[in-house]
Amino acid sequence: MNPVVVIGAGVGGLVAALELAVRGHEVTVLERAATPGGKLRSIPVAGQALDAGPTVFTQKPWFDDIFARAGARLDEHLRLTPLTVLARHAWSDGSRFDLPTDGEAAVDAVGRFAGREEAQRYRRFRADAAAIYEVLEQPFMCASRPSLPGLLARVGFRRLPALAAIRPFTSLWRALGDYFHDQRLRQLFARYATYVGASPWHAPATLMLIAHVESLGVWQLEGGMARLAEALANLAAARGVTFRYDCEVGGIEREGGRVRGVRLADGERIAASAVVANVDVGALRNGSLGADLRSAVPAHAARSSSALTWNVVARTAGFPLHHHNVFFGDDYAEEFAAVFERGALPRDPTVYVCAQDARLDDDVDARERGLLCLINAPANGDRVAYDAARVAQAEKTMRERLARTGMTLSIEPAKCVVTSPADFAARFPGAGGAIYGPVGHGWRASFVRGGARGRVPGLYLAGGSVHPGPGVPMAALSGRLAAAALDEDLRRGARR
Ligand SMILES: Cc1cc2nc3c(=O)[nH]c(=O)nc-3n(C[C@H](O)[C@H](O)[C@H](O)COP(=O)(O)OP(=O)(O)OC[C@H]3O[C@@H](n4cnc5c(N)ncnc54)[C@H](O)[C@@H]3O)c2cc1C
Repeated sequence: MNPVVVIGAGVGGLVAALELAVRGHEVTVLERAATPGGKLRSIPVAGQALDAGPTVFTQKPWFDDIFARAGARLDEHLRLTPLTVLARHAWSDGSRFDLPTDGEAAVDAVGRFAGREEAQRYRRFRADAAAIYEVLEQPFMCASRPSLPGLLARVGFRRLPALAAIRPFTSLWRALGDYFHDQRLRQLFARYATYVGASPWHAPATLMLIAHVESLGVWQLEGGMARLAEALANLAAARGVTFRYDCEVGGIEREGGRVRGVRLADGERIAASAVVANVDVGALRNGSLGADLRSAVPAHAARSSSALTWNVVARTAGFPLHHHNVFFGDDYAEEFAAVFERGALPRDPTVYVCAQDARLDDDVDARERGLLCLINAPANGDRVAYDAARVAQAEKTMRERLARTGMTLSIEPAKCVVTSPADFAARFPGAGGAIYGPVGHGWRASFVRGGARGRVPGLYLAGGSVHPGPGVPMAALSGRLAAAALDEDLRRGARR
């Protein structure tokens, strides 16, 4: 039997490889970068390893389970601290709001910030978010294929009224208007759309479920999020997975209609019993891994957003930073119109700042620290040059936004690494810099994503661009789903 080949060591690929090894398969992971993790990566800046991708870690129990299935314990590989404050939020009018993780503490905080009635509406919002999550977790997220009939069947006839609660036909922005009369809170929770690279004006209200996911816990990883990728790769290697880095796959090969192996960019051929593609579906759809594989994934959908990021070691002053901090732009509608309608950088962007080493309730400022500063950007990195002038202009708008909430940030070029949509496009082929796969706009979007099985026998899909969607936990879940589907198919084939 030839090994199973996994293309890409992103979270989805790593989890698929580990799960397949646990199920007894011989697995080889081929990764074009020099290290595992994909978007989950850190970069060296002025002697510090700074996270350059995800920073918000949720759904820890899912990872506990992934490690447990491989006979290991997550807590033995990683040091995790639960955050009591999800994020510090700031607006131009000088107001600041720390959102606690704990439900009742959060209700109290909203009450102090926006009044008792708003706190009651927030309580209802959280209950509704929990209900959406409960309806969708098993019947939809954990299903290998995202189909509407499948969802209806799994939810069951008796619980069909509960499906209405997921509000797929209402936009997130509109739904939030029912809960929040304070426009700052509406803006705060609308930001959940950006967790999947979407606009709150077009993403379905279903995304409210993120509020519930966060209420289950958000953790800070000692040493940064990239440690998670290292831990998964080390565990997979210990369970027998072979990793080849600096190893780019140039094509997926078929024989008799079935995937039989891959061809590396340098011409080497590797036979495979099946292939898990952890690449962006755009790379399959545009034919770069084989013209005959274009139809192996769903038709091309519009792209999710990209980002422009600054990893800096810098001195800040005037604003005590938490681990996660959000500085809201004044015109949120205009920000998303720029990114999604005009393909432009926002003039007054909302800025996310992760202070990597900030501990709980650590309000120290005015010292040098490692930061990730991020603004939303259009996924046009394959068409638009992000030259020095464009980046300098964006940096100016970013720093102006921070300044309007009292924060100054001095950036020295030698202590700063910028990643633009063009850099994301080069690093993760096929997506033009989109970092969350096809955009989740409208109610249909979730149902037309690729599932665990590609449309060609022997091809399986894992990662943030396929079902159940983007984000570290979802990509991890997609890896488990791909491994389970592959395992089932190979065993069924072996029995015949
Ligand atoms: C700046 C940023 C911030 C984010 N913030 C968060 C957050 O806070 N929380 C969260 O949960 N998520 C966040 N995300 C999203 C999250 O990082 C992704 O959804 C998730 O990591 C995607 O994993 P994946 O399995 O799709 O693999 P990817 O990370 O996309 O990795 C795919 C891998 O495949 C490799 N590859 C591609 N083509 C080939 C080829 N031909 N041959 C060999 N290898 C190939 C690539 O090099 C890469 O390593 C963020 C992403 C970014 C970029």
